[in-house]
Amino acid sequence: HCGTDLGMIRTRATPNDDGSYAIEGTKIWITGGEHDLVHNIVHLVLAKLPGAPDTTKGISLFVVPKFLPESGERNPAFCGGLEHKMGIKGSATCVMNFEGARGWLVGEPNEGMRAMFTMMNEARLMVGMQGLGLAEMAYQESLGFARERLQGRSLTGAKNPDGPADPIIVHPDVRRMLMRQKVLNEGMRALALFTGHQLDLSVAHGDETVRENADNLVQLLTPVVKAFLTDEGFNNANVGLQVLGGSGFTTDWPLEQLVRDGRIARIYEGTNGIQAMDLVGRKLGLKGGALVRTLFAELTSYLKDNSDAPHREELKAAMKRLETATLWLASNAPKDPEQAGAAASPYLRLMALTVIGYLWSRMAGAAQQGLDNGAENRPLLESKLVSARFYFEKLLPETDWLLQDIESGKDSMMAFSDDHWVA
Ligand SMILES: Cc1cc2nc3c(=O)[nH]c(=O)nc-3n(C[C@H](O)[C@H](O)[C@H](O)COP(=O)(O)OP(=O)(O)OC[C@H]3O[C@@H](n4cnc5c(N)ncnc54)[C@H](O)[C@@H]3O)c2cc1C
Repeated sequence: HCGTDLGMIRTRATPNDDGSYAIEGTKIWITGGEHDLVHNIVHLVLAKLPGAPDTTKGISLFVVPKFLPESGERNPAFCGGLEHKMGIKGSATCVMNFEGARGWLVGEPNEGMRAMFTMMNEARLMVGMQGLGLAEMAYQESLGFARERLQGRSLTGAKNPDGPADPIIVHPDVRRMLMRQKVLNEGMRALALFTGHQLDLSVAHGDETVRENADNLVQLLTPVVKAFLTDEGFNNANVGLQVLGGSGFTTDWPLEQLVRDGRIARIYEGTNGIQAMDLVGRKLGLKGGALVRTLFAELTSYLKDNSDAPHREELKAAMKRLETATLWLASNAPKDPEQAGAAASPYLRLMALTVIGYLWSRMAGAAQQGLDNGAENRPLLESKLVSARFYFEKLLPETDWLLQDIESGKDSMMAFSDDHWVA
């Protein structure tokens, strides 16, 4: 019964005499809830103490081991069954029954949400990487296939005249699919590395202002990394499957599994819709808007310091759209929270595409510099220049209609009455 809305949790924790708690309740869809790969399993369980408020403010976090420390006794935290899933079949997803299992409070009573978010924030970044990893496998598989599969002739004359046909990589439509995968995957990897770098700066830099700015960016970009990398990780795995044609649909090739496995990443650790709500409903307003201001400062100073930044005008235009969307939210969301809900997903996407545009501009700049300085790895550096061009010509323009989507507001989404849905 309780999913996104954690306030509805029914699992209870009753204090025992020895300072531990008796945990009673059932959790479904618990990843790795039961298995015999390790000697012990330590569950982190959200539950409510007696008399706790019926909202997320009444949730506490407990640590519940499968085997109790010291005695080694089996704690009554049992797997009630395995879920039957479309993908990630190597991961045991369990129904867990806590039948008075002994647990110990982590942190303060009723502060479970805050404690859990320490783990969730890290997990969100990791799930983003899961999406990206699957997309990269899909790209490599589909590239190999496209170079070998012979079908049709190039539109500009045979490229493999001695063979019965040309490899499908000669066809513009196949190249569009491969380019989309490669360019977006590299852009997403850059976004993940940029966020990881900010994470390092936020804990280890000597200057407090640098630490604070980096932390602002990490907080802002965590839902973006989770949602965009899993949305596009899945989409790119799907595009990879398409490159294989009918072979992609069969279990003889790994693509169908990548698509099935990639689907969950858009759902768990908070659905991507909830990530967008976190960005718009929470992160934009945090510290009086300081998080998003830090992002704009980063982009603005890049353009100011690099008058010859590659694809400067396109990047400026995307930034302007992101700014316009942010101001639109600032003026409309406080009056009507449904406007924020309606704009959340396109806004997250607009931010992701814009930040990746900034990173592609930087990558192209670095590649050009390497080429100018006679670097040896020319194919890599040349590919970066072409990839950046593809990004700015074919992918970044989506920011234009994302802004239109946001500015057109909620009306056409909210106007249906109940009888309109099935009319
Ligand atoms: C394979 C698998 C493994 C999992 N592993 C774990 C685990 O180890 N531990 C764990 O605790 N959980 C785990 N989960 C649970 C997972 O985190 C939830 O499924 C997920 O958070 C979504 O909750 P839900 O399924 O109840 O969907 P719901 O909350 O019912 O959401 C359904 C839809 O409504 C949308 N929605 C809901 N509320 C709102 C809102 N307020 N505003 C806008 N949209 C909304 C959602 O975005 C979604 O599209 C796992 C799930 C699966 C499938």
